[in-house]
Amino acid sequence: MPLLQALQDELSELDQQHLIRRRRTVDNAHGANLCADGKDLIAFCSNDYLGLATHPQVVQALQKGASLYGAGSGASHLISGHSRAHAQLEQRLAEFMAPDIANARALYFCTGYMANQAVITALAGKDAAVFSEALNHASIIDGVRLARGTTKVFPHKDYAALETMLKECTAPKRVVVTDSVFSMDGNIADLPPLLALCEQYDAWLIVDDAHGFGVLGEHGRGVLEHFGLQSSNLVYMGTLGKAAGVGGAFVAAHETVIEWLIQKARAYIYTTAAAPALAHALLTSIDIISGNEGRERRAHLNKLIKMFSHGLNLQMWELMPSVTAVQPVVIGGNAAMLNIAGNLLDQGYWVGAIRPPTVAPGTARLRVTLSAAHSDLQVHQLTQAINRLDQMSHVAQCFAEVA
Ligand SMILES: *Cc1c(COP(=O)(O)O)cnc(C)c1O
Repeated sequence: MPLLQALQDELSELDQQHLIRRRRTVDNAHGANLCADGKDLIAFCSNDYLGLATHPQVVQALQKGASLYGAGSGASHLISGHSRAHAQLEQRLAEFMAPDIANARALYFCTGYMANQAVITALAGKDAAVFSEALNHASIIDGVRLARGTTKVFPHKDYAALETMLKECTAPKRVVVTDSVFSMDGNIADLPPLLALCEQYDAWLIVDDAHGFGVLGEHGRGVLEHFGLQSSNLVYMGTLGKAAGVGGAFVAAHETVIEWLIQKARAYIYTTAAAPALAHALLTSIDIISGNEGRERRAHLNKLIKMFSHGLNLQMWELMPSVTAVQPVVIGGNAAMLNIAGNLLDQGYWVGAIRPPTVAPGTARLRVTLSAAHSDLQVHQLTQAINRLDQMSHVAQCFAEVA
């Protein structure tokens, strides 16, 4: 079978480069303590930043949603799949995001991946130019590839380079798209100058706040609240499977933009609506995020972030500058990084092992993610474990240099 052989050869090639990815099967609910492949682990790789995936009220709301609306939606939103639960969630999200977006309306999507495709392709037709930040998430990259307009990538946080591109642009419509919190680096886009540029050059600014929604801002509204931004150029995408603990995503923007998406966005139109029970559960997530409990969970998370970043004392490796729950430690080579991640796993710590093509070659990293579900002790112990491994690698390297 030459067809299979060709695939097998490429898989072997990936294996030699230490680029084969393996899944671990989790047997229990997705909290800080996971049992994966029969081993008890403390998870430092989840995006469940507030610990809402196992929150009793959210779980109960999901059960209630299933008894009210059944297991599935049965159809796409434009046919008969748009339930009362979806409508209530969109209304709630629009009200929640209203301080940041003029005439806000919200649209619920099955996934953030689809929301990015939908927004980018719907706003960037043939007559548009799309400007995409170099470190954007894969779902944005794929959306940009699908867009009919011309596309350009601007260097990471280099808004002067973007301005040059915007100045030279002759396309009648312009769309700029960026992650807010860069998912593999943890740093935050400088949205105020970026938005000013978009307003000056009459461009849409699509902001993917997958790692900011629920976490950033005093009320958890994410990166727009964090910076205090408001503009009708803004098209905001927040995901609901990370800090919100359930699943799906939403776009919040001026009501005219949302109406345009409902009419034109293929990733919205041509897919079965997500289970209404998810939307019903998300109403409870949003209540928690926006209330006192959300504020307390964010305060605990922020304390853990400081504990971790101040507690590391690295000789060999580099902690990336990040004030968010994404705290990457750059190791470098793929094999070395897998070795370290494997060692941490043996000690009971499950940390994300991120390799190319997700990040640039030579910058393989441990992607430590912190959550309000972690205790002080758990974070302290992880910090010590990473410090010890770094120390051992440092000593090993000194010996290698002597020899
Ligand atoms: C996770 C993520 C997405 C995709 O969202 P899903 O709901 O998981 O499909 C999009 N953008 C960024 C930056 C992400 O981290």
